[in-house]
Amino acid sequence: MKTDKHTRSSETPKKQRVRDSRNTDYITVASADAERLRRARARERQRKQRKRRKIILSGIVVCLVLTLVFLIVLCIRKTDEDGTPTRTDANHAASLLELPEGWKWQQMTEADLSQGTLILVNRDHAYDPGLPQTVSVYDKKTRSYFVKDKILSLREDAADALNQWMDSFAAESGRTDVNIVAGWRSYDDQVRLYQNAVNNKGQEYADAYLALPGHSEHHTGLAVDLDTYNIEDGTSGGFDGDGEYAWAVAHAWEYGFIQRYPPQKSDITGINYESWHFRYVGLPHAYIMQTENLCLEEYIDYLRNYSFSGEHLHVTCLGVSYELYFCAGNQVVVPTTGSYTISGNNADGFIVTVYP
Ligand SMILES: [Zn+2]
Repeated sequence: MKTDKHTRSSETPKKQRVRDSRNTDYITVASADAERLRRARARERQRKQRKRRKIILSGIVVCLVLTLVFLIVLCIRKTDEDGTPTRTDANHAASLLELPEGWKWQQMTEADLSQGTLILVNRDHAYDPGLPQTVSVYDKKTRSYFVKDKILSLREDAADALNQWMDSFAAESGRTDVNIVAGWRSYDDQVRLYQNAVNNKGQEYADAYLALPGHSEHHTGLAVDLDTYNIEDGTSGGFDGDGEYAWAVAHAWEYGFIQRYPPQKSDITGINYESWHFRYVGLPHAYIMQTENLCLEEYIDYLRNYSFSGEHLHVTCLGVSYELYFCAGNQVVVPTTGSYTISGNNADGFIVTVYP
């Protein structure tokens, strides 16, 4: 026991000191092992702590990076929504600018869509009469025809064309008894007319001959109803477009007017044949509709075949050459020089008519 103790002490001086302080071999050995174990555990604990700290730190870094990426993506998306030009927008703008020489873009508004002589107003396309830009027919008219009263009004271009049409008819036939009995009509006027028709002649008649308020061509100031006036007794003779009056119907297009509700197109226009109702669309449109046998609904469709980037419609009418094309949406192409008109179609785009 003594030898063992001596050997142990000579081999491990540290343990000797432990033994000295505790004074017994057993306790010395046990304490040394416990101390070793404690240190090992402490080291293990430290190692685990370091590992845990490393994991937590890595987690924080990953979270920060992810948050940063998320914020950057959010910023980019917000910028797009705000309309700041992106690469796609820039390309679009560039493509819009690529026009052949001699042409330029013109920005139209939503309100422009219901301006012009080619606006389509029917049961599918309403029109807000708003404040009319019309003139009194009585104030402007020539002596070639009558007008119902001093209030009846039309858009000025339609009133001027009506004067020329009636002057020519009077010169041709010697008759000056055409009486204009309807022109521009307010929304309330149409409500009254429609209700009167329903009350006096029934719903079926009203629907066949009268547009619903907001859907009447008379709201545009571009439509007229013709009648005849008997100077002898002041009675109305109606306007059936026959006999001597056939000339006025056949030549209406030369003055930019069309018979708006022809008998063979009732299923398209939604209105029965009205021999008396004429609509001003201007030239060369009335000429094209006449020669192609198209009502306004069909003509508006027909023009959609001629886009700016595609084939244009070229037509010569009464010695004047016209070039027409359709622009969908609110961006319209117009020539940089020369004359042209732009008309909305009251549906989905604009018709540009270029002339010398
Ligand atoms: Zn009418």
